[in-house]
Amino acid sequence: MFEGSYNSLLVLFSLFVAILASYTALDMAGRVSSATGRAARWWLVGGACAMGTGIWSMHFIGMLAFSLPITLGYDPVVTALSLLIAIASSGFALWLATRKELPWSRLACGSILMGVGVAAMHYTGMAAMRMAPGIQYNPLLFALSVVIAIAASGAALWIAFNLRRLAPRVRQLRAAAAVVMGIAIVGMHYTGMAAAQFPLGSVCGAARTGVDTGWLALVIVIIALAVLGIALIVSVLDLRMEARTATLAISLAEANQELTYLALHDTLTKLPNRLLLEDRLNRAIAGENREGGRFALMYLDLDGFKTVNDAYGHHIGDQLLVEVADRIRSNVRDQDTVARVGGDEFVLLVKITEPTDAANLSNKLRSAVEEPFRINDRLLHISTSIGIAMYPGDGQNREDLLANADAAMYHAKASGRNTYCFFETSMNANVHEQLQLAQELRLALERKELVLQYQPKFTAPSGPVIGVEALIRWAHPTRGMVGPDQFIPLSEKTGLIVPIGEWVLDEACRQMSEWHKAGRHGWTVSVNLSALQFAHVNLLKTVSNALQRHALEPRYLTLEVTESTAMRDADASLRILQQLRDMGVQISIDDFGTGYSSLLYLKRLPASELKIDRGFIRDLARDTEDAAIVSAIVALGQTLNLKIVAEGVETEAQQAFLTGLGCDSLQGYLLGHPMSADKLIASISNLNGLIQADEGVHI
Ligand code: C2E
Ligand code: CA
Ligand code: CA
Repeated sequence: MFEGSYNSLLVLFSLFVAILASYTALDMAGRVSSATGRAARWWLVGGACAMGTGIWSMHFIGMLAFSLPITLGYDPVVTALSLLIAIASSGFALWLATRKELPWSRLACGSILMGVGVAAMHYTGMAAMRMAPGIQYNPLLFALSVVIAIAASGAALWIAFNLRRLAPRVRQLRAAAAVVMGIAIVGMHYTGMAAAQFPLGSVCGAARTGVDTGWLALVIVIIALAVLGIALIVSVLDLRMEARTATLAISLAEANQELTYLALHDTLTKLPNRLLLEDRLNRAIAGENREGGRFALMYLDLDGFKTVNDAYGHHIGDQLLVEVADRIRSNVRDQDTVARVGGDEFVLLVKITEPTDAANLSNKLRSAVEEPFRINDRLLHISTSIGIAMYPGDGQNREDLLANADAAMYHAKASGRNTYCFFETSMNANVHEQLQLAQELRLALERKELVLQYQPKFTAPSGPVIGVEALIRWAHPTRGMVGPDQFIPLSEKTGLIVPIGEWVLDEACRQMSEWHKAGRHGWTVSVNLSALQFAHVNLLKTVSNALQRHALEPRYLTLEVTESTAMRDADASLRILQQLRDMGVQISIDDFGTGYSSLLYLKRLPASELKIDRGFIRDLARDTEDAAIVSAIVALGQTLNLKIVAEGVETEAQQAFLTGLGCDSLQGYLLGHPMSADKLIASISNLNGLIQADEGVHI
């Protein structure tokens, strides 16, 4: 037998290549399993090539490290075949290691197939020498080499399968595993070499025709290193990109979350908004249908919020809302929903067992909101009206429940505010009625159903009449005389107040001009302006048109603006009022005392008259505080040179008291109800028996 010898440098190098190939293979297995779709397929193909080339190079370098006393060479076709076998079995191994599961049976089959593949590569590579006579193999060592190949493959598969996830210390683990795998592969190779016996006198059939071994070694080493290196670099780059994509995906998810939050919450109070409420409501309905429980839907509307907002501005109003939201939230459990659904409207979705739970909670909320709020060193007082709809019972779906809770809330408002109301079926009629009323109101103008009544204004204590206040009525075909409280708010909501207001101005000017012609010189007519009219761009034009059309001097027209309307946007109000004043029209501040005018602001208002709110006059006898307020208002008006009118005078006691304080004029049922123009003249004439053309009328 020939004695073979080994070039130890190349042996070492073959070990290095084996370890590198193993590392690359493990890395690729990780890539394949974390990629998806087409990318995963490409990683599998690339991985198979890299790993196959790696193992094959190791084998081939190991062969080159071996030398016999005769010249050796390798048949290129057979060598190429051994490379193909290496790539194919690597591909199979990679594919197996990246399956979702690797049961023992599959591991065993895979190990055998791959081990046999590696052995086949090795012995095909040996056959490429085309020795004559053929190589004799020691059967024991040969069998051992195959066993080693199978065992090494099994270990490799198991490790690759378990290491493919991105564990925290995956790199170190992978490197250690690569060393074990590399040694196993090398072990198989050199056992296989030891099994080979070359009879003396053997000739290498590929020595002359084959490739020169020196060059071959160099080329293979370079190619192997290049393939493995490139594979590793690509893999690392891809991992980086994947990491970056992952970071990007995380920040995208965060941004998404933020957006969702914004879309579902109110920015001011951070409470859920209507959208989120509706979703929760749907879920609650579905949940109770399954489990058979009940919940209450509570509609909260703040009383007096608008006044605060108008008086102190949005900034204070906003802070107030935030604090109200906090108080509401602290009174309900975490699982309940508190949503803000409009300016000063909140809706609560509360799981309850008994209706009394909802009543108790309403009372708690009422007292919580009733407590004064301290904002910017001001004490603000508001209250809340609450409407309650129960599920099941007060509505089958979300829309009905919301509408019914809303209707109940309106009922609570109507029954004096600062209270709560459970929904009743009769309340629903109200909503429909409002809708119908709005439709009819649209037609009322065309059909000339609107009329004006006039309430006389007297010099205190009992005359003469110095003018009238025009008060609108709706002579409804079926409902009879409808008062302004029942359709002015509705007309404001629908915008109909603008044409209606125009008509009122025109009609009042016409009537006054007629009265003037009939000899009632000096009478003035007061016309009420609603907030919407007051803010309307055409106001000045409408007023001057009405005056001109009826040839009425502006000083005989007084426009009544409520204190809260005038306070709404103080600067804009001042501008508009000044322009009206410049036209020669008189300005009266209506319902005075209910708003929060600052003295400074009042001083700048170009008004000529203050009307003390009816509410103070009503309680004069009972309430000493109101008496104090009224005398303060009178004193204030006098200092500012404003005429003081007291409205709602119903008793002689009030008449005497107000006259005593120094009110300039009085208005009220005691002296005269609002009446049609004809009735007014008739009643004055009847009482007096004669018309005093020049001075007005004494009663
Ligand atoms: P207001 O401007 O405060 O009008 C005075 C209200 O007090 C009138 O109610 C009048 O009938 C009532 N009143 C007069 N004397 C007494 C009294 O001695 N006792 C009591 N309890 N009430 C008395 P009315 O006519 O129902 O009008 C209510 C409100 O509707 C008015 O309050 C005003 O704000 C508004 N309004 C009336 N007509 C018009 C209009 O043409 N345009 C606008 N924008 N609003 C109007
Ligand atoms: Ca008025
Ligand atoms: Ca008034």
